[in-house]
Amino acid sequence: MVEAGTNCQPRKSGEGIFCCNKPAVRRGGCVLHAPKLTLQEKQGLTREERRAEDAFEEEFRSALACFIEERLLRGTSAFGPVRFAAVPWKEAPFKHAMEGRWEFAGCAFDQGLDLSSRAFGPRLFRHTLFRGLTSFNLSNLRDLTFSGARFDGPVNFEGAQFFGFMNFGGAVFNGDVNFRWAKIHGHVWFRGDPPDHCFSGACDFYRLEILPDGKLSFEHVNLGKASFPYVDLERPVFLDVSWHKPSGGIIRRGASLWDEFRPRGAMDADDDRGVIAESYRQLVLTYERRRDYETAESFHIGEMEAKRKAHGSSGLRGRSKRVFNIYSAYRLLSNYGTGIWQAFTVLLVLAAFSALSLFAGFRAANSSEVIRYVPAFRLPPTSVFGDFWRAMLFTLSTATLQRDRPYEPVGDWSHFLGSVAILAIAGQAALVLLAIRRRFRR
Ligand SMILES: [Zn+2]
Repeated sequence: MVEAGTNCQPRKSGEGIFCCNKPAVRRGGCVLHAPKLTLQEKQGLTREERRAEDAFEEEFRSALACFIEERLLRGTSAFGPVRFAAVPWKEAPFKHAMEGRWEFAGCAFDQGLDLSSRAFGPRLFRHTLFRGLTSFNLSNLRDLTFSGARFDGPVNFEGAQFFGFMNFGGAVFNGDVNFRWAKIHGHVWFRGDPPDHCFSGACDFYRLEILPDGKLSFEHVNLGKASFPYVDLERPVFLDVSWHKPSGGIIRRGASLWDEFRPRGAMDADDDRGVIAESYRQLVLTYERRRDYETAESFHIGEMEAKRKAHGSSGLRGRSKRVFNIYSAYRLLSNYGTGIWQAFTVLLVLAAFSALSLFAGFRAANSSEVIRYVPAFRLPPTSVFGDFWRAMLFTLSTATLQRDRPYEPVGDWSHFLGSVAILAIAGQAALVLLAIRRRFRR
C-alpha cells in the first residue's frame, strides 16, 4: 500500500532535519518513519481500521528487524528518527540493538517503552519523544542522556538505581512521574528550560535515597506538584525552583510543600504530618545555609502549620484540640514569629482592650474623681473618646511599669485588669520584637 507519488516527508527534530527517499505508505511517512498510533488512539478506530493498523505495525516490526540486521552487518548503530510501535525488545534481532550501543536520539516511542528490570546504558535519548507508558522501574541505569526529551505519558522509575551522569537537562514531563524508592549513586540532573519547567504533572519521590556519593540537582524546575516523603531534603541542590503556592486562607502562604496540600490517598499513613514537618525542617536548613532567608521563612511557617494540623482528631474533643492549641495561638499572635505587622496589630488590639478598665474604674493620680462606667451608661460620645484615651494611657502606663503613673487603679477588678494587661502587652511586645529580630538576623 503506497501513498500515490509521495516520498517520506523530512522529519524535523532537535537533532536536525532528516530526509529519507523511500515511498510514503502512511501519514506521510515510510514504514519506519510514519507516526504510529498510541494504544489510546487505536481505541477510537473501527474494527476494519484497527485490523489495517495492526497489519501495518506487523510490517513495521519486520522492516525494523531487517534494518537492524543490515546495520549490524555494516557495523553502524543509530536509528535516526524512527517512530517505534510496540517492539519485543527481549527477542532477536531487537535485543542486539538494546544490548549494543544503539542511540535513540531524535526517535519516538509511540506505544511506550518497557525497559524495566534490566541493566542499561550509557545511551542517548536526546530529543526523544516518549508517548504511552515509559517504564524503567527496578533497572540499573547508567549515563542516560534525556536532554530535550519529551515524555507525554506516565513515566515509571520506581526502584531504579542511577549511576554515572543522568542528564534530564531540558527534558519535559507532561504526565505523572514516579521515582519512588529510587537510589541515586551518581548525579541526577534536572534542568527546566522556559517556558517548560521540567515537571508539569505530579512527581513522586517517596523514599528516594541519595547515597553518600550521589547528587541530585533541580535547576529552574517546577516542584509545585512534587512529593518528597522520607527524602532527606538537605541533600538535593535547589536552584531557582518553584514550589507549591497555596491560594486562599486568611494568612497568605509562600513556598510550600505539595505534600502538605495534596489530596490524601489510601497509601498515606495517618501520622504523615510529622514526616511533612520533618521535610520542612530540612528545607529550612537547606535554604538558610544558602542564605535565602525569605524562602526558609515560608518553610518555617510550613513546619509550624504541619505541626498545628497534626493536632486533634475526630470527635468533639479532638476537633476543639485542633482549633485551640499552642500552634494556633502562635499563628494568631505573630504568624509563628514571622509577621511583624500581624504582631503589631494584635498589640494594638490588646491595648484597645483597655477600654475594659472604663468599667472596672480608675482615677487620675492628681484627682479623686473615679472614671467608671456602669453598663447602662448615657454619656455624650466626645466624653467617651476622652475617657477611652485615658483608659489606654492607664493600661500602657501599667503595662510599661512606669513609676509615676498619671492614672491609678481603683478597686480589685481594676488591679486585676492592670496585671493582665502587663502580661499580655509585654508578651505581645516581645513577639513584635522577635519578629523584627527574625527579619534582620543576618
Ligand atoms: Zn522514511
